[in-house]
Amino acid sequence: MHRRIPQRFTIFIACTGKTPLTISIHPLILVAILLGSISFPVVSVAKAFQTMTNRNSQLTHENRNLNKQAQEILEGMEQLESEIDALQRRAGMPETGSENQSRLPQGGVPLAVEGKFFLSVAEEQLPQLMEDLEGTQPALEATLKRENARPQGLPLKASYRETSGFGFRRNPFGGGSEFHGGLDFVAAFRSPIYPTAPGKVIRAEMSRGYGYHVVIDHGYGYKTLYGHMSGLAVTSGMTVDRDRIIGYLGNTGRSTGPHLHYEVFRNDQPVDPKYYLD
Ligand SMILES: [Zn+2]
Repeated sequence: MHRRIPQRFTIFIACTGKTPLTISIHPLILVAILLGSISFPVVSVAKAFQTMTNRNSQLTHENRNLNKQAQEILEGMEQLESEIDALQRRAGMPETGSENQSRLPQGGVPLAVEGKFFLSVAEEQLPQLMEDLEGTQPALEATLKRENARPQGLPLKASYRETSGFGFRRNPFGGGSEFHGGLDFVAAFRSPIYPTAPGKVIRAEMSRGYGYHVVIDHGYGYKTLYGHMSGLAVTSGMTVDRDRIIGYLGNTGRSTGPHLHYEVFRNDQPVDPKYYLD
């Protein structure tokens, strides 16, 4: 079958009340105009679609990263909060964090709002946490000072054996019993003696009973005494810490052999030093 292609097309453009406009066009020009007017929007739409798809996957990636970061921030804050709780317990304060422990709504958070949600929770919680932390600090410092003032550990680093405990015992100088207000440690003669807590030396002298002895005031009602030393290494009024040698083990005063007599006082009452050795 043969179909004849027209040599030219004639287009009439009618305008109301005016003479119609007549345009004569070659078929190839008409095809070119039609193709041009279709291909331009198709290419543009495809390009826009591709750009949109790329942007979308980039945004999804960024969103995922943001969610991850937001979640990490919130986890960090949860940890901070539990550390503040622990500090408050240590400082003897009532905990503030326990009443709002579960901040996540039941059934979880929709993925699309996760990052934003976590960040808003973090933003909301941060001032409270800072306030809690600031409020804990003074009480904690007081607790640490009080704990540091408490005598702890041994007054000597040399190997030793305990020969006499706290309480009533047979009088080593004769008949009857007597109250022994401390612990006796036997160790090598002239072993260095150390304070069991930092404090101020309030006595460093010789007496008939204790021989060369040192008394340290640690504050908070704690005092310690170290007796029968062979020599003193501090003077009254000095401030000492746990590493300072205060004297040397000896056999001065009312003593039956080289040893250290160690006493702990709580509000000026002698207490059993064995509770302060750990
Ligand atoms: Zn003793």
